[in-house]
This record gives sequence, structure tokens and C-alpha cells, in this order.
Amino acid sequence: MDALRDGVTVLACMTAPSAADAIGDLFAMGAERWQLGGMLRAIVEPRVVRVLCPSCRKQAEVQSQVASRIGLAHSASYPVYAPGACKSCAQTGYAGRTGVFGVTYVDGDVQRAVRAGEVGDAFAQRLREAGLELLRAGRTSAEELARVFRQ
Ligand SMILES: [Zn+2]
Repeated sequence: MDALRDGVTVLACMTAPSAADAIGDLFAMGAERWQLGGMLRAIVEPRVVRVLCPSCRKQAEVQSQVASRIGLAHSASYPVYAPGACKSCAQTGYAGRTGVFGVTYVDGDVQRAVRAGEVGDAFAQRLREAGLELLRAGRTSAEELARVFRQ
């Protein structure tokens, strides 16, 4: 925190359930809301998502409960896929993993949210948008995103 106060660029990696929790931890370490709002430049929130097996994925409807959990409005305007089962994926429906990165640059709106202690929505939205890009590309399932975004 002292380095930040002196204007030094600090890249920090924290383990926390979400970006909002990480900011809460920074407050617990002694950062004041008004200081952190002005010093924070960006937050990268990573998640690991299983990739659908391209050999057996199948087009599927998204259940409304899952759609609301991942921030998908009503029904998708593009084909959504669910896991199948085949020999090449050992009947799991998934083959490999990829990263989803919610990148939030801290602009005036986010700075105000940090100062007000209302950061959860700002960061969660960026991560969900990144996850929905994978769904739109047919690379993962809605259920997998719901699992990853369960916090
Ligand atoms: Zn397969």
C-alpha cells in the first residue's frame, strides 16, 4: 500500500473468490476507499472453463434458470451447445480447458463504485460478457458457465 501511495506501479496477484472480494481484502489490508478508487487502474479476473468436445457437442436449449444465472437474456439468438459423449472425450463431453478473463479498466464510474463500496456488479458484468463470448462461439456450454459463475 505504501508503494501505491508513492505513485509506484504495482502489479499484484491475489487469490479471492471474485474481484469484489479482492477489493474487500485490500480494504482489510488498510486501503481507504477514497485512496483505492484513485489508485486502481485495472482488474483482471480469470476463470478456467471447460471446452466442449467438437466431436460430440449437440445443439441444445438453455433452461431459463441457467440463462438468468449467466446473464443470457431469454433465449440466445445463436446456436448454443451442450456436452455429448463420445470416445474422443472419454464420454465427458468436454475436451480441454480455456481461460475467460474479465478485464475491468478502472474509469470514473468504477472509481466511484469502489469509493462507495459497490464494486461487485461492475466486475461480475465484465467476466460474464467474456464468458458469453465463448458460448456464442460454441466453445462451451451454458451449464459450464453457470458452474463457473456460481459466486
Ligand atoms: Zn466427445
